Amino acid sequence: MHHMTLAEIARGLADKKFSSEELTQVLLARIAQLDPQLNSFISVTEELALSQAKAADARRAKGEHGALLGAPIAHKDLFCTQGIRTSCGSKMLDNFKAPYDATVVAKLAAAGAVTLGKTNMDEFAMGSANESSYYGAAKNPWNLEHVPGGSSGGSAAAVAARLLPAATATDTGGSIRQPAAFTNLTGLKPTYGRVSRWGMIAYASSLDQGGPLARTAEDCAILLQGMAGFDPNDSTSIDEPVPDYSASLNGSLQGLRIGVPKEYFSAGLDPRIADLIQNSVKELEKLGAVVKEISLPNMQHAIPAYYVIAPAEASSNLSRFDGVRFGHRCENPENLMDLYKRSRGEGFGVEVQRRIMVGAYALSAGYYDAYYLKAQKIRRLVKNDFMAAFNEVDIILGPTTPNPAWKLGAKDSDPVAAYLEDVYTITANLAGLPGLSMPAGFVDGLPVGVQLLAPYFQEGRLLNVAHQYQLNTDWHTRTPQGF
Ligand code: GLN
Repeated sequence: MHHMTLAEIARGLADKKFSSEELTQVLLARIAQLDPQLNSFISVTEELALSQAKAADARRAKGEHGALLGAPIAHKDLFCTQGIRTSCGSKMLDNFKAPYDATVVAKLAAAGAVTLGKTNMDEFAMGSANESSYYGAAKNPWNLEHVPGGSSGGSAAAVAARLLPAATATDTGGSIRQPAAFTNLTGLKPTYGRVSRWGMIAYASSLDQGGPLARTAEDCAILLQGMAGFDPNDSTSIDEPVPDYSASLNGSLQGLRIGVPKEYFSAGLDPRIADLIQNSVKELEKLGAVVKEISLPNMQHAIPAYYVIAPAEASSNLSRFDGVRFGHRCENPENLMDLYKRSRGEGFGVEVQRRIMVGAYALSAGYYDAYYLKAQKIRRLVKNDFMAAFNEVDIILGPTTPNPAWKLGAKDSDPVAAYLEDVYTITANLAGLPGLSMPAGFVDGLPVGVQLLAPYFQEGRLLNVAHQYQLNTDWHTRTPQGF
């Protein structure tokens, strides 16, 4: 049962082959048995899951339909869940039970999805390996000595290991697409503003976006359908109609113009990954696509710009965790300043503290123009590069990451080495564009992802291309040994 995709589960439930309660029991048992190896969950919500599953079965018995009705999922532990610990991977929020549901959580619950639990993540979503989590690293089911990627590493490890068919995740600089690439999944970061950020604990507000992680494009379409839409509670949510994503999957790729940026193949890209990306291009050409070399000349400036903007926003967002209103408070503070300092010093881990310091520095009087303002100007140039490219092509294709998943601990002493691995993903966040990663092969037994980028609100186009690719390849069906 655990091998089924969301689409297969929906068919099975509709045909009464099994109930949501039966499926939920199977998956909860599988989580109990296998998660100790993976550490992909921070909280398993067994009681909630079983009551939601029973409720979904009752709704189906009354004649209700819906692809998510009774479908088991999990939420990255930065989506607020009412009455349930929402830790954001941090000691700071280890004792925080959210007083309300995030819009994404509420929408999926209303559609009948069953929440199995909350997944592990880098602390406050800062990281690319799930190693900065207060709850310990999650492991990659393809090789337990390697990272599953981050920051949505728990969602990725759990879905890849078939503990459940799909999970929510968020992407500020790649945290849906990069873990998808590292664990052989399909992950979609929607256009900025497509999915509500209300109740999603903020890392960098102008970059954060929630989206689906699943095994197939077909399943990403189903989950995105339940997540997307205008939300008056989020001032950056965009009031655009939500198309039927599943209906967009079967378009022909005849004449589709694919742009491959020449900058993507410079030094730093593992040549074996470059070969797999070229193979995926050939596969799409067989389906009728036309390939063209393009240029994104400002790409080289994106990492420094991102690593000023994201910490700057984070330093502001995380100022609310002061030991007074939320989360961890130090013992016996001597005065208010001592309360702030020790609560924050004890509650935040080293990577979060590093980013708060970098961000506060970049925003400080005297340095603001030199760093933050400059970074914002680069951000505009990055966006302009994409706008020019999308005048010539329909999608942009390249690697999701320059290397496959690294060994646990390999980048501990050099945080900048990890930042450099974000080179292909962060540009979409700076520009607010939608991006998707899908399985494209293996290097040394570790999965490799190909990334597709599209113009604003063209999530359907990304899903269509990925689905057609998946109808003609079988990378996405490969299962890690032991799971
Ligand atoms: N690796 C990037 C960072 O650490 C992106 C993280 C994310 O998308 N949440 O900021």
